[in-house]
Amino acid sequence: MERFNHLNPATPAEAIHAIATASGTARFLAGGTTMVDLMKLEVERPNTLVDITRIGDLREIGTSSGELIFGALAHMSDVADNPVIKRDYPLLSEALWRAASQQLRNMATLGGNLLQRTRCTYFRDTQFPCNKRVPGSGCRAINGMNRGHALLGGSEHCIAVYPGDWAIALVAMDAVVDTQSPRGLRTISVADLHRQPGDTPHIETALAPDELILRTRVPTSRLGRASTYQKVRDRESYAFALASAAVALILDGETVQDARIALGGVATVPWRARDAEQSLIGQTLTEAVARQAGRIAFADAKTRTQNAFRVPLGIETVADALLIAKGRA
Ligand code: SF4
Repeated sequence: MERFNHLNPATPAEAIHAIATASGTARFLAGGTTMVDLMKLEVERPNTLVDITRIGDLREIGTSSGELIFGALAHMSDVADNPVIKRDYPLLSEALWRAASQQLRNMATLGGNLLQRTRCTYFRDTQFPCNKRVPGSGCRAINGMNRGHALLGGSEHCIAVYPGDWAIALVAMDAVVDTQSPRGLRTISVADLHRQPGDTPHIETALAPDELILRTRVPTSRLGRASTYQKVRDRESYAFALASAAVALILDGETVQDARIALGGVATVPWRARDAEQSLIGQTLTEAVARQAGRIAFADAKTRTQNAFRVPLGIETVADALLIAKGRA
């Protein structure tokens, strides 16, 4: 790793000033579980790291005016193990439990987790061309090793999967993030935070380089109770999803009144399956209805040379998640 400046601001305003006035490439640093990894691989080569871990205000976990509030520096383990979240919003707890090992959950922050970078092999190995790492250099994955690449939301310039779990559950629950930059405060829907690659795959989020996530807010809702986050992966120990589904339901008896479905591990961004949700409204939630919702969720899937097996896997993951959520109603 090359040498870099390391700054330790005490407030969001100081952090933003530090990053806005740094010379060369500057990055925020929180738990470091993504950034340090990418620096070792020389995918990221910042001149300045603005370490935000001293900003105590960003560690809050609580409720306010019909919302759950999760500070950007709260650790994954703080929320995954919270008894109220486990009882009333199991999809949130499960998304964090299934995201990473205990060691990583203790270290990684919720804000950093939202901004995880792709695990595409070609992105992480600087000897290969990659439009996301070096714009205009090409995409080796499209005709290469694409077993784990996106079925939804890709382009001819990039088919990298968004790798996180927490954001999938947040998108299902209509969560928002509050941010701060030199231009002031703003709120962004988590559904609008990540960008599909289009012809600019190097632009991954709606955030400006000097914009800091302060907190995530999740509307409190009856939807949380009958919910789950299901994740299929190559091995039982911690791994990234081959397919995952965050599902939440409101049922009247066995009839669906409201439904949320978001897909993970299969798309370039956290993917809300709204047509599949609509297909459930007013229906008795049988196994066949659940599987049909899964099919609708993957109706626009575009397969590549090695990843077609994940379409039926994804359909079954959605169906399983719906039936598990139904069992919690
Ligand atoms: Fe790079 Fe995206 Fe292609 Fe992977 S899929 S090589 S990240 S451009």
